[in-house]
Amino acid sequence: MTGVLVYDSDSGTVFVTGPCYGCGNLFSFHPNKVPSITPPGGDTPLPVCLSCVERVNPARVKNGLPEIVPLPGAYEPAAEEEINWGDD
Ligand SMILES: [Zn+2]
Repeated sequence: MTGVLVYDSDSGTVFVTGPCYGCGNLFSFHPNKVPSITPPGGDTPLPVCLSCVERVNPARVKNGLPEIVPLPGAYEPAAEEEINWGDD
């Protein structure tokens, strides 16, 4: 996931802020829950903001694809211990 990790030591929460794949706007999200798209030919999943999810869903349904349903808390900070940091 691309973006800047922000750690709030006061509350012990973590979130990532980065540009949306769809619209390019900066937004904050939970790094393990946010819906993401890996661009064709790319190997890094890029996060998608809620307004883009809502924007693309009607087109997805029309094309026979399932709606993107963000996980609960996808756009909220995460508890530090909740984060799966992965291998990188
Ligand atoms: Zn967006």
